[in-house]
Amino acid sequence: MMLLLWGLPVAIAVWFSWRYAWWRPSVDTRYPRILMYHMIAEPVAGAQFNGLRVTPSRFEQQLRWLRDNGWQGFTVSELVDRAAELPDKAVAITFDDGYADNATQALPLLQRYGYKATLYLVVDRHDRDWSRSRKAHHDGDELKAIAKLSDAQVRELLASGCFELGAHTLTHANLLKLDDAALRHELIDAKRQLEQCFDVPVRSFAYPFGLYRPEQVVLVREAGYDSAVTVREGIDDPAGWRPLELARIKVSGRDGMLAFRQRMRTGRRGV
Ligand SMILES: [Zn+2]
Repeated sequence: MMLLLWGLPVAIAVWFSWRYAWWRPSVDTRYPRILMYHMIAEPVAGAQFNGLRVTPSRFEQQLRWLRDNGWQGFTVSELVDRAAELPDKAVAITFDDGYADNATQALPLLQRYGYKATLYLVVDRHDRDWSRSRKAHHDGDELKAIAKLSDAQVRELLASGCFELGAHTLTHANLLKLDDAALRHELIDAKRQLEQCFDVPVRSFAYPFGLYRPEQVVLVREAGYDSAVTVREGIDDPAGWRPLELARIKVSGRDGMLAFRQRMRTGRRGV
């Protein structure tokens, strides 16, 4: 009986501590936060990738929290350009892949709350199955079936003044499977095609799936990018930044506001 009485609160305390790692020290707020999003959409019953779907109401809650707590929005290139002179509480919001809801759902909310974002766009993004190029068991049809941004929608994002355009390769390639020639093609042609199509400089890159070999970073620089974001979770000191391997904070559709605040504080949710 005693075990039952004490066992449950202890189990809850252990679970809570594991999930939110409340003891983890706060990272200095002078270190900028780079948030990683994919879709702003309602979850789909039975779907595999609901972690990539942050609902519009939760996204709005997050933006309101950022605003109410004094976080100022930048694009990734602005962060890198101003690394030495950033204000306290700088945040960059990023969207990977190019889902249509970035225009229909995210843009109006970013405008309402006064935040900028960086879009990492796959050039050849329509009717493409890329999740299987990471793991064979992934159901490629789920992401393939989701509407991607049209070129007109990308122009709308850029015309709003809220968005920087970055590249995410031509085909959402798994860089681990590419030799140098194939990687150069993905890097250089993606940049050139996006710049020609949208008439803006493309300076920033996102590694598809966050996968790359350390020796590939120099090819990213040679292709003309001066910043690149990974999926390494964390918050880096800009004094020691490697601008072609920036850490990000994952914002999961499975998280509540407590987890979001925890990630903003420490760079990650739990242990
Ligand atoms: Zn991606």
